[in-house]
Amino acid sequence: MKKILLKLSGEALAGDKKTGFDEDTIRKVAFQVKQLVEDGIQVGIVIGGGNFWRGRSSENIDRTKADQIGMLATVMNCIYTSEIFRSAGMKTEILTPFECSSFTKLFSKDRADKYFSQGKVVFFAGGTGHPYFSTDTGVVLRAVEVEAEVILLAKAVDGVYDDDPRKNPNAKKYKEVTIDEVIAKNLQVVDMTASILARDNKMPMWVFGLNEENSIVNTVKGNFDGTKVTV
Ligand code: UDP
Repeated sequence: MKKILLKLSGEALAGDKKTGFDEDTIRKVAFQVKQLVEDGIQVGIVIGGGNFWRGRSSENIDRTKADQIGMLATVMNCIYTSEIFRSAGMKTEILTPFECSSFTKLFSKDRADKYFSQGKVVFFAGGTGHPYFSTDTGVVLRAVEVEAEVILLAKAVDGVYDDDPRKNPNAKKYKEVTIDEVIAKNLQVVDMTASILARDNKMPMWVFGLNEENSIVNTVKGNFDGTKVTV
């Protein structure tokens, strides 16, 4: 494996607190990503914003503005996580699809490639830069652009199930499922826009539980216990 994109939800960053940052959780991620980087794997990171804000749940303000706040929430998450990664001994850069002055650098494929080749972890903050999209779509878009081999989706639930395992104890976990089945059955791996983009550009996604010990490293090293979404 040479290049991967890892997607963390905003809630994952918050740990049990559900909002804001949980340093312990992020340090565990940092420790694992460091092992991958030391093995020569290029790692890009996309983080959601749900620990602060979601555009679609704000009823009284214009959706475009609400989504802008959401995109800025993802920038905050990336700045925080990037600093934890740096304190763990990694080199990082944050790219955004819009200017944030000196806080981040403007995304371009060439810039991302340059940082990857320097052994840096590249954070893709700000989603797609457009309202009415999500960081699910952002991660698929960036993965396709930077030619990652696979997207790792680290989630609260440890794979893709045929029903909600938190409500139905008999729900069955898929070992493998095609993106066409995900779309046809609306299996909630990523949102529908992102699913279609992954299908059209043949970008596989591996879903696993973030909270299981060492799950990111295990997934990359082939000791995988989640669900592979094939394309
Ligand atoms: N967002 C956006 N465009 C993007 C990515 C994110 O407008 O390309 C906004 C949107 O308001 C979203 C919020 O940022 O609700 C947080 O992103 P995330 O993907 O975590 O959203 P979720 O799917 O949880 O709403």
